[in-house]
Amino acid sequence: MNRFDADRYSRQTRFAPLGPAGQERLAAARVAVVGCGALGGVVAMALARAGVGFLRLIDRDVPELSNLPRQVLFDEADVAAGLPKAVAAAAALARINSDITIEPIVADLTATNAVELLTGVDLVVDGTDNFEARFLINEIACRERRPWVHGGALGAEGRVLAIVPGRTACLRCLIPDPPAPGTLPTCDTAGIIGPTALVVGAVEAAEAIKILVGVEETVGSMLVCDLWAGVWRTVDLGPLAALGCGTCRGTDFPWLEGRLGGRPTPLCGRDAVQVTSVGGAVDLAVVADRLAGVGLVVSNRWIVRADVEEGIQLSVFADGRAIVSGTREEARARAIVSRYLGA
Ligand SMILES: [Zn+2]
Repeated sequence: MNRFDADRYSRQTRFAPLGPAGQERLAAARVAVVGCGALGGVVAMALARAGVGFLRLIDRDVPELSNLPRQVLFDEADVAAGLPKAVAAAAALARINSDITIEPIVADLTATNAVELLTGVDLVVDGTDNFEARFLINEIACRERRPWVHGGALGAEGRVLAIVPGRTACLRCLIPDPPAPGTLPTCDTAGIIGPTALVVGAVEAAEAIKILVGVEETVGSMLVCDLWAGVWRTVDLGPLAALGCGTCRGTDFPWLEGRLGGRPTPLCGRDAVQVTSVGGAVDLAVVADRLAGVGLVVSNRWIVRADVEEGIQLSVFADGRAIVSGTREEARARAIVSRYLGA
């Protein structure tokens, strides 16, 4: 367990339901936050300030100017530096709380790596913007009987659901047939205001803290809110939990088994497509050499980024992913990756 200064946390331990014993549990807790953008940034910040002893930050992207209205861990300097979000977020959190251990991981959570990335933690928090990652988290959580907290934010609307396998409904209970990519509104199409992310992230953090200190009686209902309309509702998912589904009953894991998912991913909140077919880990020095004559912008140990064509930026990550910014067309993104990386 990380050592901590009790006075630092005196105001939250004075809150009787948490107390000194709860603080000890937070200090001993290990949490993975998947996605360090709008929601994940708020949750990670709240948990770091609360003294959660270990935080694993998993994110696949780099900060952009259009993220700054709602992504609290980043500033203009981070955008200019071109560091991955996980790395920039870890640095920001280390400045907030040096007592805790923070492990940044620059990766996209997929069926191939999800089990490994989410191993060794007590709780997983959803800061993602896509259903594939959420269903992967849900399936691992259900299979391994580990709690996780789901959050979603769009426009001025948010929802939060904490899932304790064996006790509450799971994400699949709520959404039996996942929507096809591109059929739902996203931050790109519907937009989002910063306060929605702050509210949803804050409620996710509260649910996480309750679970980590062992208070689960009030967990399992879904909060739905519309900040613009001023409406807050709690939806009782007890009937869904009683019914259960294949995933929370332990028989059906279509995302983990690769029967669902695995498509190129338009990234929420930006004009960009992620292409995963670069083919395993890459040598970034080689990539930087290749792109040097094209228009190299940033090169560090995590990422090489270049302005390859008018309005098109290509970012290559060490784990073998590429993000093509400036387009939302999967075919065009694949063509650009092929043209400049030969993959
Ligand atoms: Zn279920």
